[in-house]
Amino acid sequence: MITVKNIRLRPDEKESLLKEKIASKLKIDSKDITELVILHRSLDARKEAVFVYEAAVKTKNENKLLKHKDVNKYQKITYQIPLVKTEERPLIIGLGPSGLFAALKLVSSGIKPIIIERGKRIKQRSEDVRRFMEEGILNSESNVQYGEGGAGTFSDAKLTTRIKDPYISYILDAFVNFGAKTEIRYDAHPHIGTDEIRKIIVRMTDHLIAKGATIYFEERAEDLIIENGKVKALITNKRTIAAEKIIIACGHSAYEFFKTLYKRGVYLENKDFSVGFRVEHPQDLIDLRQYKEYAPYLKKMPAEYFLRAKTTNNKGVYSFCMCPGGFVIPSSCDQETIVTNGMSYSLRDHHLANSAILVQIDKNDYDEGLFAGFEYLHALEHKAYEASTSYKALSQNIKDYLDGSLNKLIFPSSYSLGTVLYDFNKFFDQKLNDSFHEALSHFDKLIPGFIEKGIMVGPETKSSCPIRIKRGADRMSINTCGLYPVGEGAGYAGGIMSSALDGVKTADEIINNLQ
Ligand SMILES: Cc1cc2nc3c(=O)[nH]c(=O)nc-3n(C[C@H](O)[C@H](O)[C@H](O)COP(=O)(O)OP(=O)(O)OC[C@H]3O[C@@H](n4cnc5c(N)ncnc54)[C@H](O)[C@@H]3O)c2cc1C
Repeated sequence: MITVKNIRLRPDEKESLLKEKIASKLKIDSKDITELVILHRSLDARKEAVFVYEAAVKTKNENKLLKHKDVNKYQKITYQIPLVKTEERPLIIGLGPSGLFAALKLVSSGIKPIIIERGKRIKQRSEDVRRFMEEGILNSESNVQYGEGGAGTFSDAKLTTRIKDPYISYILDAFVNFGAKTEIRYDAHPHIGTDEIRKIIVRMTDHLIAKGATIYFEERAEDLIIENGKVKALITNKRTIAAEKIIIACGHSAYEFFKTLYKRGVYLENKDFSVGFRVEHPQDLIDLRQYKEYAPYLKKMPAEYFLRAKTTNNKGVYSFCMCPGGFVIPSSCDQETIVTNGMSYSLRDHHLANSAILVQIDKNDYDEGLFAGFEYLHALEHKAYEASTSYKALSQNIKDYLDGSLNKLIFPSSYSLGTVLYDFNKFFDQKLNDSFHEALSHFDKLIPGFIEKGIMVGPETKSSCPIRIKRGADRMSINTCGLYPVGEGAGYAGGIMSSALDGVKTADEIINNLQ
């Protein structure tokens, strides 16, 4: 097979035209194309909206066609999956994307991990999440952050990543094999939606159990036994489990467990993180600005944006985790705190678009000390709760934030528990407000109406972890043999794909060790 790049279709053209377009590019008869597989599809909306494809095709005389521009030999990626005979059972703490994908990789080699997950299975977890979203009753062990599938379960389930790694297609293939639509294999911005990812995760968990993994749900990792720099066992709130290899995949909210690791001498360090708020706009506005006259043809593909600004006080402000056609959701895991995030369904058909707007926080912005970043974030989450006196989020029109005024919202937020008006100028410190003001004015030049037609809902505090469990090239903690920190909580990933990738690569290292 050969690959053909840069095949362009207008939004009003059907995908069935691809074969003709490829044939004309190769100067062959379309009947000679006997197989066509889409490899990549992206929407280029910079000048006029156009879909750009790459495809692999089977045809006659392929070697002769290699002389054409954008044509190459097709190299299918294959993976080595060695079978390992071992009685050893690595332990995994946390069944979010990093722990889940580490476990999937281990069982594919015949290894049977033991997994400890503090939250519940998705069915029961969904009920706890519903109670919080509709009634404001938070279960601090079963919520948007904790439970089967981890933090990405009640999410947009965007599978976007900028990482180039052959294992990215391995992860996308796994999602497809467990029920995701095939488009995610080639879309530049793959998206599943919370309704679909919940079903997929349940199938993945059932597969792990069928392959011999043991999963203890509603059980919390609380301590480690470390002897002479080597991990020996994990202590949970229900038992002690001997283990020489422990993958720590517990996400960025496991503050208490990080403190225990520190007490046991595991090397941790501070890292930069971000804070901010969500903005919401009518999706039609974003579609019109991004797609222009093609907006009516792209109704099923609500537009996204990616915005960046470097402000004069040297801060990076950026849009993050944009959810077209989605909802801002209550995402707290600790009592009396407010945390916002974004979620959408597979159809992305809600009338509002939302995105986090975040500013980078570095060590100069908060107190000294390893856990000062956590304390800074927690203080903001609790300050929001105190200002609101409930789990209703804080909100303000973007225009009012820039003017320093406070008027009724121009439209109600999608945040299910409702919002209270609050001046974010009084919430963040001066330096952060200066950065946000400047960045929002810049964003309004890129998307006219961004200020006038948008509202803020916040705060958003859990986009990244303020510490890192330092590891070496062997993916083990630099001072605790047998301890493998992975994913977002360990400070090595941010998002579903990068966390899953981190888990897979660590599983590979363990598989190599056990061979
Ligand atoms: C609402 C929301 C929407 C998001 N949307 C997207 C998106 O669309 N795309 C994207 O790429 N990213 C998204 N993210 C971010 C993404 O979900 C995370 O980056 C990713 O889940 C991190 O994976 P992880 O495995 O490192 O940790 P987590 O997913 O946080 O999983 C950690 C797991 O460990 C468990 N755990 C914690 N402490 C313990 C303990 N002591 N003992 C036992 N178990 C423990 C937790 O219960 C949890 O299940 C979203 C996040 C949220 C909250």
